[in-house]
Amino acid sequence: MQDNFIYDQYTESRGEPSMLKILCSSCNEFLCDYQKDGPGPLLRCYCDRIHSPNDLKKAIQNSTPQLLCCRQCGQTIGEKGIYEKEQRLAFFLKEGSFVIAQEDPGTNH
Ligand SMILES: [Zn+2]
Repeated sequence: MQDNFIYDQYTESRGEPSMLKILCSSCNEFLCDYQKDGPGPLLRCYCDRIHSPNDLKKAIQNSTPQLLCCRQCGQTIGEKGIYEKEQRLAFFLKEGSFVIAQEDPGTNH
């Protein structure tokens, strides 16, 4: 689909990016399109890798909300923090609060 990936030093050190669609685990509401760089489990959502929705992007640019919540059921998905190793603003995700629907146009069920 849209693969307007951001390539920078983080992408370079982590590996090939992929676009993940992140959904709320309790009500399945769409939360965001997230660019994950490289393999491994998803623990954090770096704010500079959130590609959509636009209102969330805008909110982050203005002043990042303390919590990332599901807009439908209100479940807390992540909490704002700084990933110290890189001094990068991120949402630290709550385990089990989200599910990932990986966009893979190659498989059609
Ligand atoms: Zn929800």
